[in-house]
Amino acid sequence: MHLRKTKIVATLGPSTSSQEMLARMIEAGVDVIRFNFSHGSAQQYIEAAKLIREISKARQCSVGILCDLQGPKIRIGQFEHGSIQLDKGDQFILDAKCQIGNQTRVGLDYKSLPKEVGQGVLLLLDDGRITMRVDQVKAAEIYCTVMTGGLLSNNKGINKQGGGLAAESLTDKDREDIKTAVAIGADFLAISFPRSAADIHLARQLLIKAGGHAHIVAKIERAEAIEMLEEIIEASDVVMVARGDLGVEVGDALVPSLQKRIIKLARAKNKVTITATQMLESMINSAIPTRAEVSDVANAVLDGTDAVMLSAETASGQYPLEAIAAMDRVCVEAENEQALQMRPTVDTRRFTKVDESIAMAVSYVAEHLPIKAVVGLPQSGASVLWLSRSNMTAPIYALSPVSETRRRLKLYRGVYTFPLDSKSMNSREASEIAEATLVKRGILSQGDLILMMTCEHFGKAGNTNTLKVMVVGQK
Ligand code: PGA
Ligand code: MN
Repeated sequence: MHLRKTKIVATLGPSTSSQEMLARMIEAGVDVIRFNFSHGSAQQYIEAAKLIREISKARQCSVGILCDLQGPKIRIGQFEHGSIQLDKGDQFILDAKCQIGNQTRVGLDYKSLPKEVGQGVLLLLDDGRITMRVDQVKAAEIYCTVMTGGLLSNNKGINKQGGGLAAESLTDKDREDIKTAVAIGADFLAISFPRSAADIHLARQLLIKAGGHAHIVAKIERAEAIEMLEEIIEASDVVMVARGDLGVEVGDALVPSLQKRIIKLARAKNKVTITATQMLESMINSAIPTRAEVSDVANAVLDGTDAVMLSAETASGQYPLEAIAAMDRVCVEAENEQALQMRPTVDTRRFTKVDESIAMAVSYVAEHLPIKAVVGLPQSGASVLWLSRSNMTAPIYALSPVSETRRRLKLYRGVYTFPLDSKSMNSREASEIAEATLVKRGILSQGDLILMMTCEHFGKAGNTNTLKVMVVGQK
């Protein structure tokens, strides 16, 4: 049996909010559930988080929760009847003062948009599905002509072609939502539209001040962020290739090469990556994906992404479970191919940390001995992160007493987590219990050769300093 290494992030929404659907999603193998704070209320998410924690506890598995801040995404308001149909050539008004939209106008959540656009600017709505040219701006009203029509529904996003809107990365709503994320116990906090490392640092400060410990995800989705890529990646823990807005801002043709660049750079800096948006878009209304979508998911895996993400496919689509199943099978096949292609090479870098060098030694040995599995006993998970950055073929089992660490590791490629009650144990006892746990679960058998990463001062973070080659069942 091949275990899927690439992780699946699925967005929660009306299609998947019920207790039953949450349980089925988790059973189908979703690793991290994303709460998109652009939709839904704080109360809804607090309740959903409670359900997720209950289900994962009952099933004895870890599920990460990612709270995705809305950011300054400029969105239209709501319509009287939920949506309207726009046709090419229609006149339409984006009106910062409008309360509830109709066939001729709709409100804006970003009140200063009328000040930042002028005649001739092209506005792209709903990830560019609908486009409008600005004809004239009168106070709070932007008069437009529809260039590409379609169905426009509540709260869809608006981008300006070429980027360059002044909007602050963290809005007042985001600052409130950070507190909700902390109340939820979010494992990941995604920052939308960061322009620089400063935006990430500010988010981290606010998060810490609110008492949160989430890892920060930088969504790369602004033209300006590409220029600041290195510093944004360095400032964050996880990077999301947010292809929806990114494609709108920089043009769709640049997205594939940027995806490769972002993933490569993030991996080189020991960061985790999520590839997002429209991965299986047609599955919103269809039980099977297109060949192009299948190729896209597989190529993200070959690019080295840690996780692939589902958005509307699971939030509001008709086939959320089929979409998860499709991702699962496509990732597994792509990984089989990759096992042949991506052998780890001997790294020429000098290491600054002992645990990093142990992790690299582990990955080297794992490729040159018939190793069945690598076992780590992490507190914070740093050594496991390094290990999962190498393109090791052997699976990495991380047994940790810290539930937050286990949930965070759910996003790392090739890492599988289990609880370990190792309090007041020394490292030898903990290794023995870890081995016994994996044997009991049918993962290891007598005689298997394994690598154990551990440390002499067991129970403290960042102390990994030992690599043991062990035969299961032999003392
Ligand atoms: P969103 O971000 O779904 O919150 O817009 C992802 C993207 O832009 O691709
Ligand atoms: Mn976006």
